[in-house]
Order: sequence, then structure tokens, then C-alpha cells
Amino acid sequence: MSRTADSDLAHLFHPYTNLVKHPETGPLVITRGQGVRVYDEAGKDYIEGLAGLWCTALGWGEERLVEAAARQMRELPFYHLFSSRTHPPAVQLAEMLAAQVPIDDARVLFACSGSESNDTAIKLIWYRNNALGRPDKKKIIARERAYHGVTVATASLTGLVNNQRSFDVPIDRIFHTGCPHYWRYGEKGESEEQFATRRAEELEKLILAEGPDTVAAFFAEPVMGAGGVIVPPATYFAKIQAVLKKYDVLLVADEVITGFGRTGNMFGCDTFGIRPDMMTVAKGLSSGYLPISALIVSGEVFGPIAEEAGRIGVFGHGFTYGGHPVSAAVAVETLKIYAERDILGHVAKVGPVLQRGLAALQQHPLVGEARGVGLIGAVELVADKDSRTAFDPKLAVGPRVVAKAQAHGVILRAMGDAVAFAPPLIISEAEILDMLGRFRRALDEAHGELVGAGAV
Ligand code: PMP
Repeated sequence: MSRTADSDLAHLFHPYTNLVKHPETGPLVITRGQGVRVYDEAGKDYIEGLAGLWCTALGWGEERLVEAAARQMRELPFYHLFSSRTHPPAVQLAEMLAAQVPIDDARVLFACSGSESNDTAIKLIWYRNNALGRPDKKKIIARERAYHGVTVATASLTGLVNNQRSFDVPIDRIFHTGCPHYWRYGEKGESEEQFATRRAEELEKLILAEGPDTVAAFFAEPVMGAGGVIVPPATYFAKIQAVLKKYDVLLVADEVITGFGRTGNMFGCDTFGIRPDMMTVAKGLSSGYLPISALIVSGEVFGPIAEEAGRIGVFGHGFTYGGHPVSAAVAVETLKIYAERDILGHVAKVGPVLQRGLAALQQHPLVGEARGVGLIGAVELVADKDSRTAFDPKLAVGPRVVAKAQAHGVILRAMGDAVAFAPPLIISEAEILDMLGRFRRALDEAHGELVGAGAV
């Protein structure tokens, strides 16, 4: 093992890692990247099929972002937005975001991560309802298999067991309603339309059971990411929004993964006809080059909050590094590149190549469902395709396939037995086909092993 790997085992505390197994398997040490590829310390190259953590939309080695950071570092490496201070990169970025989002009179509040922006959204929802004299309207509904972050409050919204078990979350006033995954949760004989109606009715029942005067907001990712890349049925969001409107419940769109072209439009909200009251973005905002996130709220959301802050004397919230000038300058440059290089046009061209490739994998004996939109997708591996029977989790089929894919030079992510694809948006058609070819070899090998073991 290399000196870096040895030192890692001695000193690092890894997030999202099996901390007992890690010393046995050792770390994968990535030392550099170029385009859609990253390289390990031995020089082996990998296609980064998940754009790092769904974020590196422009791929690695984008000199314009490096230059933007260096320029801003020299000019003004730090300033903040507290106490009426401001600086040009934050203002320019806020202006650009406000012009792009499907939100009226948008106001932009910066933070450093998706979790922070979602956590801030929760606080603002509570603050606003106090301002409006309805202190009981505070409950928040998210969905099973949602991912909204890992702070105490956002891990409570996240509907995944590993983010909650043993962490003493969820906190109170947080509820979950059903996940819009038709293939997995649709009933026999139920159409997608009927399934979407059932999910909206479930939401309405939950709001009525809790009392509409106590329910403040609903959080949703347009396409659920870490929950397994769940693309909702076509009519789902229209029906959900009708329910939310009826009971004066705010809609928060978590666009941390889906923002900036991932689903083929600038925002997932555009793809699915969502008109949110609040939106959170991160990841693709800076192409992952520096940490930055934003919570964008409508004028209607902002108004009562501003008045309350006026009464109190200050809006008592903000992070030291929220809207950091270097991160903001890199984000401004990122958004300029998206526009100049017509990233949406590129996704429109190559997205179908990914989706057709994933759909073709549906013929594979291990693949129960292939799903996706734009440049995000997943295949769900199952023990029996007809009955959609899942594998015994102890077999860890998803992680096994992902490990084999890594050996073949493509980095992917398993969420249970769903394997996700979200490559850099700059990926070419040839690179997509290469990535899928490597993945198919991994699938074939895993299938051979599972047949040998009598698991399929
Ligand atoms: N929301 C969504 C939809 C996400 O995918 C993530 C991160 N994967 C987050 C929020 C949290 O973002 P962060 O890790 O930057 O806190």
C-alpha cells in the first residue's frame, strides 16, 4: 500500500464508508482528473460515471474555472454578506440565478452545501409562519427514500434508514409520505396515472390527519437521487401541487442534483412542471469546483421574513462562508460556460444515448428496471425479473457490480441494488458508449458469479 493509503488508514475518518471494512479494502487514492476521467495514484484511469458526487458537470481540468478562482483569490479572497456588506461575485451570481429560476421576485441566500441550504429552508419556513402569526403551522413533509442532507434537521427529512439509524433522528414535526416509484410500488393492474393519483391522495390524507393548520411545507427532489434515481410518473407533480395549494403548504424543490441541466432543462422543475415557493441548489452550481449552495425564495416567502427580521432588529442567520467570493466567482464562470457551450443542447443530444443504452441493459438477466431522464439514470438489479424480487441484501449485489465496474475503469455508485449513472454533462456520445460497455462487462461477470452461487 502507498504512503498516502497507509496514512489514510491511520488518520482519516471517512464519510459514507464501512469504517470496519475500510482498513481491509484500503482506500482508492485519486490524484488527478481530466475531462470525464479521474486517475488513481498508479495512473489507472476511470470514467467518472457519477461526476464525483453528482456535481462535476464540466468534468475535470476546466481551466476557465481555475482562472476565475485565481483571479478572485488575488482580488478579494474573503469577504462576507453580514451587516449589509456585499461583494460583486455574490451579487452577480444572485442576479444570474434569479433570472433563471421558475420563481417570482426571487431572492437568493447563499450557503456552502446542500444540507446547509435545506436546513436553512426549514428554519425560514418556521420563521415565516411565526411572522405570519401561525406558530402551529410548522410540520414538514418529505418522502420515503428522499435525500435532503445530513444535518440534524435535514437528516430528519432524508427518508433513508442509514442516515437515521443510531443518529437519534428524526426530530419531531417531520413526516414522510410515499415514494413515487411506480415500478417498485405500483400495485397490480394500477396505471402510472392511477399510481400518481394514489400518491397525491396519500399526501392529502396525511395533511388532513395532522391538520392543515399544522402543516407548513413539502420537500421534494424533482428526480430523487440518492434514493435510487426515481423519476416520478408524468402527472405526479401536477397532482401533488394541487394538494399543496389547497392546504396552503409551501413547496420546496431540492434541485441540488437536478439543477443546471442534469434532467435536460435548466432545472428539474422545468422538466416536471413544478412551480416551487423555494428552491435549493448546490453541486452543479460551481461544477463541484468549490463549495457553494443557494436557497432561492419567492418574493412572497421573503416578504414576511424581512418584516419579522425588521421587528426583531436583525435576521439572525448566516454562515461565515455563505456566498464566499471565490466560490461565487467560480459559480458565475460555471453558469457562463453552461450558456456559452449550450450545455442544455448537449444534454438534449447525448442524454438519449445514455437512456437508450440503459434501456438496452433491461434485456440483461440481472436488470429489473432501467430508468432515467436527461443525463441521470439507474438500473435496478433483481433476483427475479418477472416477480421483481430483490436480492438478499447480504449478497450486496449492487456494491459487487460497482466494484467490478471499477476494476473495468468506470466509477459508479450503488444505492442498495440500484446502480446510478450521472456523468459529467460534457460527456461525449463515444464516452457514454464506452462507460456502458465497461458496465455491461461488470454485469456479465457478476451474473456468472451469482449463477455459480445459485443466487439467480
Ligand atoms: N439534496 C440532495 C438532493 C442531494 O443529493 C444532496 C447531496 N447528495 C444534498 C441535498 C446534500 O448536499 P451536501 O452533501 O452538499 O450537504
